Amino acid sequence: MNDDSSRPLWGIDLGGTKIEGAIIDPVHPENTIHRLRLPTESSQGYDHILGQFSSLISQLEEASGLKRPARIGVGTPGVTTPSTGLLRNSNTLCLNEKPIAADLSRILGTQVTLANDANCCALAEATLGVAKGYHTVFGIILGTGVGGGIVVDGRALTGAHGICGEWGHNPIPGEITSCYCGRAGCVETVISGPALERFYRDLAKSDIRLPAIAKLAEKGDSKAKATLERLREKFAVALAAVINILDPDAIVIGGGVGNLDLLYEEETRTAVQRNLFNDFFLTPILRPSLGDSAGVFGAAILTA
Ligand SMILES: [Zn+2]
Repeated sequence: MNDDSSRPLWGIDLGGTKIEGAIIDPVHPENTIHRLRLPTESSQGYDHILGQFSSLISQLEEASGLKRPARIGVGTPGVTTPSTGLLRNSNTLCLNEKPIAADLSRILGTQVTLANDANCCALAEATLGVAKGYHTVFGIILGTGVGGGIVVDGRALTGAHGICGEWGHNPIPGEITSCYCGRAGCVETVISGPALERFYRDLAKSDIRLPAIAKLAEKGDSKAKATLERLREKFAVALAAVINILDPDAIVIGGGVGNLDLLYEEETRTAVQRNLFNDFFLTPILRPSLGDSAGVFGAAILTA
């Protein structure tokens, strides 16, 4: 092995509330060399976030005794327009329309490779996690929002517009709820956690969170069961549309809604198959294995 392939990989997960950094050993990536986090303090604006980022890198250098590498990988919500390098659709609003990779590269004095956080999670699960060894992996984030990333042979695809894997804004036939993206009936407006909670609230006139709804469904509550059946059916419709295009070898479901057992049941697989352009459905639907480490590990692997 040459020096380059054994150099430690640095990844940063830039979220709305925290910036987390990890240095991993590429030979044994499950062994984190160092891991630190700082608050993003995004309410203080873009320049402040850049400063927090810079502090985190300095602290990682100090704690590890390593110098910052020639390349650092960064995962963050939002989409980078390939032609301009500007971020958009980030829920950390002050990052939008900013050339964040270029600004970070300049401030840190090292090259920064930026990717969508869902792409980072998919990349981590496909290279180190539960989907390791599969050729094409569709990594889903199903939680407050609905996103996804596509990894082929260990590389996360970005696409001509930077929107590869963004199935959360495909339309579901017959659905009309307005989406923040300006369209209506998007997958995210139907099967995200808040969307399911809203559906239950309208039925039961009770404002409770999804895990509580799932518990009620187990006890036989008909409105809670109807909410979960809606998740099953609409998830199946939305996922089958992706499979018809991509036909991945494995599917991994991250995010809070992804914890629900229902998504992994045979009945859900049958529902997917019913919507699929095929008579049988073989693709494994997997629970992620890296938990909340996936984002920062995936960011590090961007630089491998
Ligand atoms: Zn939308």
